[in-house]
Amino acid sequence: MDIRVDTDACVGCGLCIKDCPMHVYELQNNVSVPVRPNNCMGCLSCHEICPAQALEHRGIYSAKRHYIDIKVCEMLRKVI
Ligand code: SF4
Ligand code: SF4
Repeated sequence: MDIRVDTDACVGCGLCIKDCPMHVYELQNNVSVPVRPNNCMGCLSCHEICPAQALEHRGIYSAKRHYIDIKVCEMLRKVI
């Protein structure tokens, strides 16, 4: 899994570390580091809980984004 942490945005709160069921992250120098990226199962729970929006999982589509896209499609179907 390609997990990126925006080190400028991360405030070191540790929420992603507590939240991740697969123990992907560790706090190093007050920044979250994905030390076990291959453990990631792509649930995006950490992505949702991060208050700084500092996490990115490349290649995984977030449920929130999917929901927005469905709503946009529904609106377009009514118009066309
Ligand atoms: S997506 Fe889920 S399994 Fe992967 S790092 Fe985030 S919380 Fe852990
Ligand atoms: S939840 Fe976000 S801000 Fe908090 S430690 Fe993790 S990446 Fe950093």
